[in-house]
Amino acid sequence: MPDAKAKPGKKTVAADKKPSKADLKKMEKKLAAKPLLVWDALKPAELKALEAAAQDYRAFLDAAKTEREAVREIIRRAETAGFEPLGGKGPRFHLTRMGKVAMLFAAGQKPIREGMRLIVSHIDAPRLDLKPKPLYEDVDLAFLKTHYYGGIKKYQWLSRPLALHGFVVKDDGRRVDVVIGENPADPVLTIADLLPHLARQAQGSKKVSEAFPGEKMNLIVGSRPLGDDETKNRFRLAVLDILDRKYGLVEEDLISAEFETVPAGSARDVGLDASLIGGYGQDDRICAYTSMAALLSLKKQDRPAAALFVDREETGSDGATGAKSRFMESMVAELMDRAGEPVSWVAVRQALMNTKAVSADVEGALDPDFQDVHEKNNAARLGYGPCVTRYTGGGGKYGASEASAEYMGWLRGVFNKAGVLWQSSLLGKIDEGGGGTVAMFLAEHGMDVVDCGPSLLAMHSPFEIASKADLFMTIRAYAAFYQAE
Ligand code: MN
Ligand code: MN
Repeated sequence: MPDAKAKPGKKTVAADKKPSKADLKKMEKKLAAKPLLVWDALKPAELKALEAAAQDYRAFLDAAKTEREAVREIIRRAETAGFEPLGGKGPRFHLTRMGKVAMLFAAGQKPIREGMRLIVSHIDAPRLDLKPKPLYEDVDLAFLKTHYYGGIKKYQWLSRPLALHGFVVKDDGRRVDVVIGENPADPVLTIADLLPHLARQAQGSKKVSEAFPGEKMNLIVGSRPLGDDETKNRFRLAVLDILDRKYGLVEEDLISAEFETVPAGSARDVGLDASLIGGYGQDDRICAYTSMAALLSLKKQDRPAAALFVDREETGSDGATGAKSRFMESMVAELMDRAGEPVSWVAVRQALMNTKAVSADVEGALDPDFQDVHEKNNAARLGYGPCVTRYTGGGGKYGASEASAEYMGWLRGVFNKAGVLWQSSLLGKIDEGGGGTVAMFLAEHGMDVVDCGPSLLAMHSPFEIASKADLFMTIRAYAAFYQAE
């Protein structure tokens, strides 16, 4: 595209004329940026498609309450849509890593070396993990000790039904899967909060961050002992007996296990108009779902398209399955090899540098009850479509990458041409706090990247709120991005 020289625009009113009311209206319409509410713009057929997407998304959330369940569900859906493991004949592949990372890939007209259209979301979510030695008893109750993962407000996890999802690897390598608390016939687990009558000092006089110590996040798992009052640790023993009888487990097995405690139950429609979706793990599985749906819907596109689903974002992307790990480069090299493209250090670096990426993560929606923490001109609004966030981080733009004007201009063009309703946003007031995404770890490869995803209310809570309108428009946005030249 040629560079445009700065030149005067076509004036609505001559400079020497006083604009009429009608002129002012025209000027406002022509000149001022005005995001559109998705609900105002959708046609009846689109509303029907929106409802279908929302229903399918709720089913996805229910099937994908941990990162491993998300990988399984993504691969299951991809295989139904014709994706194969990398050994297949292609041209659409799925790859996984350690059961916690997945990539879906659809070959394009152009080689990978010239650059992909890549969308990266994360499939881990805040939760309560079990400690390696979790089981103990106290005052005639048996408990499992937890260790919270990611940024939670601990009190939100108290006195509510919780489910345990995970598995054990026995010392002979056998794997035992366990899910407790999702089937209506199952018991659930819970962490009992202190009664308000006695909480005045222990909780009420403290700061919220100090009133709920992580060490008190203990799950009630039993109250019916074995033996008689001569029996040692008989509440603990009763739980060990159940683990043995139901699952064939001994206590040491819990050391080689991954157990995640998550809110029990299904995602639900929210509101009398059912226009919202409430559920656990929407940060960031709403982006995992929408990027997956967009990729699976592609017929043929110019550039190779990839959706990458990563783990460990909520704790800083460290570890073998986090975005800081090198698996992405290996996956790209393997895909290039499979496509018959030369694989050299230079070729892989070029493929990554020529790639245009979206860091697909959720944005904090303007909270009606806490508008003060937002800067309203740049705050995300529910229902106005996916948010494009040029930079995240905190303070003086620390801990983040920033999308260039060139890339922002390109993406605006892609979205506007495809009829995507979208908004520009920043997370909050400058000195209010902040947060990061995987964008900066993608930027390390030298690729263009920007954050783009729907906004949520009650982010990181056990019941996060998304708009069905944003869900629908985000699928359209990601599909447009994948098809962009
Ligand atoms: Mn996130
Ligand atoms: Mn998060």
